[in-house]
Amino acid sequence: MSGSDSVKTVVVIGGGLSGLSAANAINETANRVGFPIRTILLERDSWLGGKIRSVEGDGYLCETGPNGFLDNKPSTMALVNRLGVAERLYKSDDNARKRYVFSDGKLQRIPEDPLSFLTSELISIRGKLRLGMEFLLPQGDPNKDESVAEFVTRRLGAEALDKLIDPMSAGIYAGDPNVMSLKSCFPKVAMIEQQFGGLLRGMLEMQKMAKARGVEGPQNAGPSGVLWSFKKGTGEICDILADRIGKENVRSGVEATSLTRTESGWTVECSDGEKIEAASVVMATPAYDGAKLLQPHAKTASAIMENIPYVPTAMACLGYERGDIEHPLDGFGFLIPGKEGRKILGSLWSSSIFPNRAPEGKVMFTLIIGGARSPELVHLDDEALMGVCCDEMDITLGIKAMPTFNKITRWDRAIPQYVVGHGARVAQVEAELKEVGAIHLGGNAYYGIGINDCTARADTLAPEVLRGLGVEVVEPEQGRRPDTTT
Ligand SMILES: Cc1cc2nc3c(=O)[nH]c(=O)nc-3n(C[C@H](O)[C@H](O)[C@H](O)COP(=O)(O)OP(=O)(O)OC[C@H]3O[C@@H](n4cnc5c(N)ncnc54)[C@H](O)[C@@H]3O)c2cc1C
Repeated sequence: MSGSDSVKTVVVIGGGLSGLSAANAINETANRVGFPIRTILLERDSWLGGKIRSVEGDGYLCETGPNGFLDNKPSTMALVNRLGVAERLYKSDDNARKRYVFSDGKLQRIPEDPLSFLTSELISIRGKLRLGMEFLLPQGDPNKDESVAEFVTRRLGAEALDKLIDPMSAGIYAGDPNVMSLKSCFPKVAMIEQQFGGLLRGMLEMQKMAKARGVEGPQNAGPSGVLWSFKKGTGEICDILADRIGKENVRSGVEATSLTRTESGWTVECSDGEKIEAASVVMATPAYDGAKLLQPHAKTASAIMENIPYVPTAMACLGYERGDIEHPLDGFGFLIPGKEGRKILGSLWSSSIFPNRAPEGKVMFTLIIGGARSPELVHLDDEALMGVCCDEMDITLGIKAMPTFNKITRWDRAIPQYVVGHGARVAQVEAELKEVGAIHLGGNAYYGIGINDCTARADTLAPEVLRGLGVEVVEPEQGRRPDTTT
């Protein structure tokens, strides 16, 4: 198949959220500027959504990957509004603002404001004093790409690292803060230190600035915001996007097997034998898959992409009779610091967060297992893994009953890890791809790992792709700007 002269073809490789939102954004932008384009999306699996899949069974709604997205970054909410599907959203329950940490052998609420922080038992008096000293510390070297652990120990002390940031790193990245790059994983935190000289100073300044704009309340350096999902689970956004891109343009069960550079772009060879002539290609696969396709054309980029580490995770959805659980489950769930030596990274109280996740009279938990801390557990068989989950439910929540429902999902390479030096390596990849031409980098291995990052990247990719085709594109309108918060 070849694109005619008047209609250029763009091929997006990968039908996870990154690819789906990029294909949709390219079509939206092309329509807006009146440029005729055909966007074809290739997905190797027979289903769309990649890591995002919402599965119904026995009246439960399980997520195999993400449980939702936060509204502290604008891109996903803006996408939902542009698609006109805001009525499909579920806002998380107000109780889900309560988050817990399993520390010193018990569940402890994470303080949300200065007063509850002062009275909380989670951090010792010594740890609180050390945190307060942050005010007095000099700014670090802006050119150094520090690890998250180095940064937090330097500014906030070892206890804040162990009890707050280590579990948060596990909850977002399933990662090890000792190797994670602060600049790439928590760019907003790095920016606050550089802009204001320190975190506490920065938060106070940001609060003043927000107040001047009429926004009340504390400004956080870490991830904040309200969690949202869809009535049929996060998978619904992928179905909506696929519909919008059009059945005729979305090929599931079709792998891109090789790329050949041509004068006018690329020939994309597909597993079904088809060869597509593309003016431009968007690589929205995991980094290691993209590395294989790029190997003949961009050797350095390919080697860097191949070496981006991924950690495995298992997600276990467990359903129980409500009457078997004493705990009020009045919150989002909990994360566990590595120092506690537990076998799970944490547990989401899924049926307390969104309304239709469990049938009447039942509750559902989602346990996160593996990550950088204990990758070997992901490969236990179902029976052994269920044994681990039940033991952990007993130790953390005192639940002795057996679940009456379970669904386990394993991801061998679940979440890319942005280890120290990540930003510089991605810049090297981009530089080489620019030389090669007509190829663009999507996927969550480069500029942010979460749902909001995938949709924000789609918004920057679309004008980039069209400009590469010689189209004049004015700056994205409000609400579609690239976002670098968190
Ligand atoms: C367990 C887990 C929990 C998470 N929780 C959250 C959360 O609560 N909130 C949040 O914001 N984010 C969360 N995330 C992250 C979120 O899931 C990702 O941001 C997002 O799903 C990544 O989408 P993607 O399209 O970049 O990659 P993927 O979903 O990996 O999709 C890439 C696709 O490319 C396809 N592909 C690869 N090679 C080829 C080829 N040659 N030809 C055709 N197709 C190809 C693959 O089959 C795959 O479908 C979680 C992730 C995991 C794993």
